[in-house]
Amino acid sequence: MSFWVEKKLNQLTTVQWESLCDGCGKCCLNKLIDDETEDLYYTDAACHLLDDDTCACRHYPERFKYVPACTAITVDNIAELTWLPDSCAYKRLHDGRELPSWHPLLTGSKEAMHAAGISVKGKTINEKRVKDVFDHIVLWPLKDLD
Ligand code: SF4
Ligand code: SF4
Repeated sequence: MSFWVEKKLNQLTTVQWESLCDGCGKCCLNKLIDDETEDLYYTDAACHLLDDDTCACRHYPERFKYVPACTAITVDNIAELTWLPDSCAYKRLHDGRELPSWHPLLTGSKEAMHAAGISVKGKTINEKRVKDVFDHIVLWPLKDLD
């Protein structure tokens, strides 16, 4: 059996935890929360460190130096991070779901994820080029398959 099936999230090694990330990049999109309803809206305005082609952070190891507000996802805060997309591997496993069929740990690459339209590849704008973030609300980050 695979480690993410055999073990609980709090039993994973750091390497196993990091490998669960599918690298979709959706957690790096700017999000808006309605003050009154607390409804969450995704935008296509991405953190300026996000590479829209690879969907990876350009300075992941030292990202907090450039973006202090970046959130490290851990087993201790996963329950509180309600803004993570439903497709996020951490959220899925925390919610008792399985990894999706397109996940890189199952397919060996990000290609199936990109092909399924799950990642941010080619869909974002650098937040520094955005004039009004309210003009950038999008629905595609809500996509979640199997
Ligand atoms: S949304 Fe989850 S799986 Fe996707 S890049 Fe962010 S942490 Fe990784
Ligand atoms: S600093 Fe890197 S990991 Fe953090 S939101 Fe920006 S691109 Fe994503």
